[in-house]
Amino acid sequence: MNILVTGGAGFIGSHVVDDLILQGNNVIVLDDLSGGFEDNVNNKAVFIKGDICDYDLIKKIFKENKIDFVFHLAAYAAEGLSHFIKRFNYNNNLMGSVNLINQSIIHKVKCFVFTSSIAVYGKNQLPMTEDTVPMPEDSYGIAKYAVELELECSHKLFGLNYIIFRPHNVYGERQNIGDKYRNVIGIFMNQILQNKPLTVFGDGEQSRAFSYIGDVAPVIAKSIHQQDAYNEVYNVGADIPYTVNQLIKKVKEVMDKEPEVNYLDPRNEVVHAYSSHKKAEIVFNLKEKTDLETGLQKMAEWVKQHGAKSTKNFDEIEIEEKLPPSWKIN
Ligand code: NAD
Repeated sequence: MNILVTGGAGFIGSHVVDDLILQGNNVIVLDDLSGGFEDNVNNKAVFIKGDICDYDLIKKIFKENKIDFVFHLAAYAAEGLSHFIKRFNYNNNLMGSVNLINQSIIHKVKCFVFTSSIAVYGKNQLPMTEDTVPMPEDSYGIAKYAVELELECSHKLFGLNYIIFRPHNVYGERQNIGDKYRNVIGIFMNQILQNKPLTVFGDGEQSRAFSYIGDVAPVIAKSIHQQDAYNEVYNVGADIPYTVNQLIKKVKEVMDKEPEVNYLDPRNEVVHAYSSHKKAEIVFNLKEKTDLETGLQKMAEWVKQHGAKSTKNFDEIEIEEKLPPSWKIN
């Protein structure tokens, strides 16, 4: 099968690519390297450096390759920052997705796999289940939900099959620990490597279920083989929520350091977010998941081997009002 993976130089995408190649597929990776790294790309994949917002490029890729399946993971997933970069967020995460959906309809792609997010639920009942009515609270979640709705309506009118995954708080090897706007575990590990205090928004009592990459990417990669799973939405990831304060204790243990913790003003975010995975467990026959200690240990080993990453500012902030001071560019 010929498979296009957008965001395949990124964290989750590169693991999905590895699995797809192990399955014997021909994989084309499209990634603009805005958040990923060429080193992450499996050397058996064809790598195209390019932007999903470049519609001429997308048309060319579909015209020149008979694409059977699309795995669309390219996005800028800085949920908290998305309030302040609305135009960028909708261009990249919504319009970029529409470019791929258009071409998938025209070229009769067999199934379009999309990584949405738990962010679509917003502040909602816990645990969030797939039949919970989404109420996204930020621009990132709104863009993801719009793409979900677009896939549903493209299926109804044009017969484009889709599978939507809603992962959450994924961590593990190859995560970009240098992005200061997202991925709390990576941020903490990077701060520890640089002997800096850990920074926490609010009192650290917000909770999330942190999901190890090995429990997420393989589920996404194998999903296309199960046609009875098509045209549905699935939560995917860990079940047990931990507060950020509990997480800090565990990160300190695996990194074997005792950094200070610097509590900042709270930011605008959903306080508790975790979801049920019963549906994915039944449909994809999922068994045991990696516990947080084991997953953190694996990530810590990788992080220690690869060292600290420099962080850079997102330099086109569109709205400064209410931007957390630590995100202001000095
Ligand atoms: P990531 O940043 O590591 O990977 C995203 C990749 O997309 C990067 O390599 C980046 O360079 C690329 N990209 C971004 N914009 C692009 C564009 N316009 N054109 C081409 N490439 C572009 O992030 P990730 O954590 O691996 O996330 C992968 C997907 O999973 C995203 O869609 C994200 O929204 C979704 N997701 C992630 C999490 C998580 O916890 N990591 C949770 C829910 C959903």
